[in-house]
Amino acid sequence: MVYFIGAGPGDRELITVKGMRILRESDCVIYAGSLINPELLGYAKPGCELHDSAGMTLEKVSSVMQENETHGRNTARLHTGDPSVYGAIKEQIDILEGKSIPYEVVPGVSSFSGAAAAMGLEYTLPGVSQTVILTRMEGRTPVPEKEKIKALAAIGASMAIFLSSGMLAELSEQLISGGLPGETPAAIVYKATWPDEKIIRTTVKELPEAGSKNNINKTAIILVGKFIEGDYERSKLYDPGFTHGYRTGRA
Ligand code: SAH
Repeated sequence: MVYFIGAGPGDRELITVKGMRILRESDCVIYAGSLINPELLGYAKPGCELHDSAGMTLEKVSSVMQENETHGRNTARLHTGDPSVYGAIKEQIDILEGKSIPYEVVPGVSSFSGAAAAMGLEYTLPGVSQTVILTRMEGRTPVPEKEKIKALAAIGASMAIFLSSGMLAELSEQLISGGLPGETPAAIVYKATWPDEKIIRTTVKELPEAGSKNNINKTAIILVGKFIEGDYERSKLYDPGFTHGYRTGRA
């Protein structure tokens, strides 16, 4: 059996109870060494076979899984944050299905949740935005034309931008050319929920300068939108005058 486990954004307590239990019980752990908190490996049992996937190909990863499966051993495949977001799990799952190796995915806390938590923010503020866009700048992995930052910025929704902290000048330019005013609030959250977490509040226009001043070029997520700062409306759910299935509002 292979378990894909979301390790969470960094803090070792932000793995799920289920993820931690499976990690403790597994015979082999393949972990994304560039992003996973190494303290999580402390949950692995003595004698557990450990592999850092940073230096491995998809073929190597799947052959390690296959080898363990053949010997009746379980493998935990630890991915940072939640495996469904830029986790490259689909290609692994397809190989496992092709070999009839059973698997299960255990979700995790994504870094976009960790970053909002670190700043005490809510992406979906009434009167501001009811949509969260999870996206990235185009790098060596292409982004479909309709999903380029410029097009998404035109929507004006709350944005969490992954894998782009090394391209802040282009990011800022594209956000502005998509129609966002340069003064739109933005934040760079470096290593959210790690002990050396850094939160940099800035604006869309000043993103590149804020990044270079703080030496940010990796392991950071960029948040963009008025949810970071400014006015919003109260929620209907907790409004004394609002009636819903569980409460009658006062006129
Ligand atoms: N599956 C992961 C994302 C993997 S892609 C998740 O759900 O979070 C790697 C990118 O995630 C990094 O380039 C960065 O943009 C972001 N990231 C991962 N961990 C982070 C953290 N602790 N703080 C800020 N950004 C993080």
